[in-house]
Amino acid sequence: MERSLVILKPDAVQRGLVGTILTRLEQRGLKIVGLKLMQIDEQLARKHYAEHEGKGFFNDLVSYITSGPVVVLVIAGDNVIEMIRNTVGATNPAKAAPGTIRADYAVSIGRNLIHASDSPASGERETANFFQDAELLQNFNRTVDPWIFE
Ligand code: UDP
Ligand code: MG
Repeated sequence: MERSLVILKPDAVQRGLVGTILTRLEQRGLKIVGLKLMQIDEQLARKHYAEHEGKGFFNDLVSYITSGPVVVLVIAGDNVIEMIRNTVGATNPAKAAPGTIRADYAVSIGRNLIHASDSPASGERETANFFQDAELLQNFNRTVDPWIFE
C-alpha cells in the first residue's frame, strides 16, 4: 500500500480548479484518506522541496507554493504513486501529454497547478510533513471498492 501526497498549488485554488482537479482524481477511483485547506509557510516549503535547494528555480518555487492557500491531500492504495504521476503529467505543462491535468489546464512550468509524490519513499516523507497520523482515515471502507478493484 503506497501513499501519495498531492498538493493543489496556489494557482489551482486562485483559478477555481480545485473541484475540477479533485474530480479527476476521485472519479478514477483513487481513495482520498486525508484532505485540508492550508497556507504553506516558508519553512515547510523549504522542507517539502529540500531536494531542489540550490537550483536556479528554488527561490521562485518557494515563493510560488507559499503565495496563497493550497489544498493538500493524501491518496492511499497499490501503485498510487505512478498512477497519480501519470494523471498529473510532465512537470512542464507545455510538454505534458494531452489528457493529463497539467496539459489540460496549465501552460507554464512555474504555474503547473499540482504536486504529486514521485516515489513511495517521498510519499511517506511528504505525508509526514503535512499530516499527523490521526488526521488520516486510512481504514474507512468504501462499498464501491469491489467495483473498482478486481
Ligand atoms: N519547477 C520550476 N522550474 C523548473 C523545474 C521545476 O519552476 O525548471 C517547479 C515546478 O513547479 C515543479 C516543482 O518546481 O512542479 C518541483 O520540480 P520537480 O522536478 O520535482 O517536478 P514535479 O515533481 O512537480 O513534476
Ligand atoms: Mg517532484
